[in-house]
Amino acid sequence: MLRFFASIDTMTSLHTEMNPPFDSYYSWVVPTVRYLKSLGVGFIMGTRVVDVDFRPTTDEKTVTMLRCTQQGKAKNIPIRRNDFTFISIGSKVSDVKVGTMHKAPVTVQVDHPEDAPFLLWQKMAAKQPEMGNPLKFTSSPDHSEFVIWTCQTKGNVWDRLTLGLTGNKRMGEQHEIVFPDSAWRNIYHVPWQPFVPNQTPGTTIVMGMGEHCGNKGDFVKKPMWASTGKEILTEFCYHFGWEKDLPEIIKNSEINVYYEPYVTSMFLPRNMFDRPKVVPNRSTNLAFIGEYTEMPEDTVFMVSYSTKSAQLAVHQLFGVTNIPITPPVAHNKWNPYWVFKGVKAMLIGSE
Ligand SMILES: Cc1cc2nc3c(=O)[nH]c(=O)nc-3n(C[C@H](O)[C@H](O)[C@H](O)COP(=O)(O)OP(=O)(O)OC[C@H]3O[C@@H](n4cnc5c(N)ncnc54)[C@H](O)[C@@H]3O)c2cc1C
Repeated sequence: MLRFFASIDTMTSLHTEMNPPFDSYYSWVVPTVRYLKSLGVGFIMGTRVVDVDFRPTTDEKTVTMLRCTQQGKAKNIPIRRNDFTFISIGSKVSDVKVGTMHKAPVTVQVDHPEDAPFLLWQKMAAKQPEMGNPLKFTSSPDHSEFVIWTCQTKGNVWDRLTLGLTGNKRMGEQHEIVFPDSAWRNIYHVPWQPFVPNQTPGTTIVMGMGEHCGNKGDFVKKPMWASTGKEILTEFCYHFGWEKDLPEIIKNSEINVYYEPYVTSMFLPRNMFDRPKVVPNRSTNLAFIGEYTEMPEDTVFMVSYSTKSAQLAVHQLFGVTNIPITPPVAHNKWNPYWVFKGVKAMLIGSE
């Protein structure tokens, strides 16, 4: 809350937030990859880093080898004298399971990580001190799981229902609509349309989430992660009073359902040593990047935390001092101007 204090008075309109034209993949990933390729950066796809070798000494932390699997075959990448390694540890979308209209994402709850991001971190933490404690983030998926669904529907049924409910003029102007008392804690989110550049004309894409996805639904009496897309739409429409539109929605929709067991794991209780520093003490060629690194005063969950960790990694490993790290943490919680605006927004509403 203190980190985002300066945004409190624009929480309703969100006009100080950056809204890209399409989803994150097309707005950020595709142009960034294109730019990096133009600079000669190589991308090796289909490869997992499964282990890291260190120089056998306690005086320094020096990576000597990345042990990988590529298309199922072992492949080792030696790290030479002037090489540097930037390793993404953990991922909140690790072990994501996907369901469809007629298939639930899982039948039993995920209870331990099987994907590379957390397994690699576990191996490194077992070999070296000051590498954090990944088990803190993977040991209780029942407190860090979400189900998220994305639905693409032919026709204008979502537009009619949503605009009728909110009074907005355009799809995408709405905030997330939350049902705090629903058993799954349902959330409905309408992005700007079209959501992806190649979206089929005459279709609308909407999304939803269930934060308490291990509970039995109010209407569909099972956990959300064990429910098909059809069952999730059924529960959702009952909460909105849109039951009579349900057959039309199901008939004209394709839905993907994602069970993400670790999606809020970075908020689980931890101490200040459970996440490693971006550049660990006595590192000569290793930096950690991503949402499980420790950056004092900053707040995790958005892309900006990960990009900032990468900037910090480059600054510290290469001794960069003349380029600022963005976004800076605003220290405005004691500034009378922002305190006044914040209190006003909380008492009488925001802009
Ligand atoms: C549903 C949802 C909605 C979100 N909405 C927003 C939003 O509106 N705005 C916003 O700013 N943020 C949003 N986020 C958060 C944002 O997606 C993350 O902050 C961001 O993706 C983190 O980037 P990252 O590179 O650290 O990790 P990731 O995106 O998890 O990427 C890490 C990559 O490294 C790869 N990797 C990891 N370990 C290994 C290994 N050992 N070998 C090979 N590859 C490996 C992974 O496969 C992955 O591709 C959202 C997240 C979710 C789940």
